[in-house]
Amino acid sequence: MKSSYIAEYIWIDGTVPTQKVRSKAKTVPMGEEPPLWAFDGSSTYQATGDRSDCVLKPVFSCADPVRGGDNRLVLCEVLLADMSPHPTNKRAPLVEVAKRFASHEPWFGIEQEYTLFDGAKPLGWPENGFPAPQGGYYCGVGADEVFGRPIVDKHMVACMDAGLSIAGINAEVMPAQWEFQIGALSPLEVADQLWVARWLLYRIAEDFGINATLYPKPVKGDWNGAGAHTNFSTKEMREFFDYIIKACEALGERHELHIANYGHAIEERLTGRHETCSYKEFRYGVSDRGASVRIPWQVARNQKGYIEDRRPNANADPYVTTRLILETVCTAFERRPVAAHAQAAHAR
Ligand code: ADP
Ligand code: MN
Ligand code: MN
Ligand code: MN
Repeated sequence: MKSSYIAEYIWIDGTVPTQKVRSKAKTVPMGEEPPLWAFDGSSTYQATGDRSDCVLKPVFSCADPVRGGDNRLVLCEVLLADMSPHPTNKRAPLVEVAKRFASHEPWFGIEQEYTLFDGAKPLGWPENGFPAPQGGYYCGVGADEVFGRPIVDKHMVACMDAGLSIAGINAEVMPAQWEFQIGALSPLEVADQLWVARWLLYRIAEDFGINATLYPKPVKGDWNGAGAHTNFSTKEMREFFDYIIKACEALGERHELHIANYGHAIEERLTGRHETCSYKEFRYGVSDRGASVRIPWQVARNQKGYIEDRRPNANADPYVTTRLILETVCTAFERRPVAAHAQAAHAR
């Protein structure tokens, strides 16, 4: 038997305006948990050269589907040398907020869109000019319509082998653009798993010589952008439609704050075209893919369920988006509970 396993430590760096995921590996004696570790923060925009050590604190680990065997992926929070959360550590504030609102039993499901690039152009796009206009690519099949399926399928299986809650995958509206979904899970689970799934996507595409990007508007013009639709419910919303409406109204009251934290270059993507609502407006509606927040039709029919916040960019940080949604919606629920008679009417 081997005496050690390999732990791939994964963390989120300090790159501006969009933080990137980084990793490095260490051997750990078999049977031991991955310990605290450190890295050179001056090479990740997280420290100055004279006080460069940042601490890696393991917070979530799973099987490593790339190396296989007993090897592990180890997602970490970044701490300062005094063991307090680093300013770039957006997970630590979510831990607090998730604890504060745990009694609402929040669930999130995140749809991660991304684009595969072959060098400077989207995978499968012609050397010069553009592919045929959008229309046939979404959930397409065939070599003229989808590009990169071996990567996408390998990534889905890798997520399953790692034990992540991947709900599915689909080809998107723009050729070379794809989506996978993580959840529904609690706030910390969905965000941790999404970051590991992003790392796996980059890592698997790397073996194909392909680069996956979360840039929200990878091709200017009449091509869809890439988002991270964030589906959300609490136990109240899973029982009463009044809370579905109340959640939408609460999100509308803090629209600017959410937009400012839903990923860099959001104004490039939320134009009011290509299945988006302009970032300057807030609208919610049943089945409306041009709204900021969509109430799925089956939710309107069942009079309970969840809502879809369509605003987050593909490059949004799920630690930030889930925290804001939780805070905004659950604070409103606690401030003004829905009248008991309205609940009773729906309970009938
Ligand atoms: P779309 O129709 O927008 O493409 P998807 O099927 O891609 O939707 O994604 C929907 C996501 O919503 C899935 O990840 C699913 O797990 C999640 N979801 C389903 N029910 C709930 C719920 N009650 N609360 C939160 N998320 C949910
Ligand atoms: Mn989807
Ligand atoms: Mn999509
Ligand atoms: Mn969606």
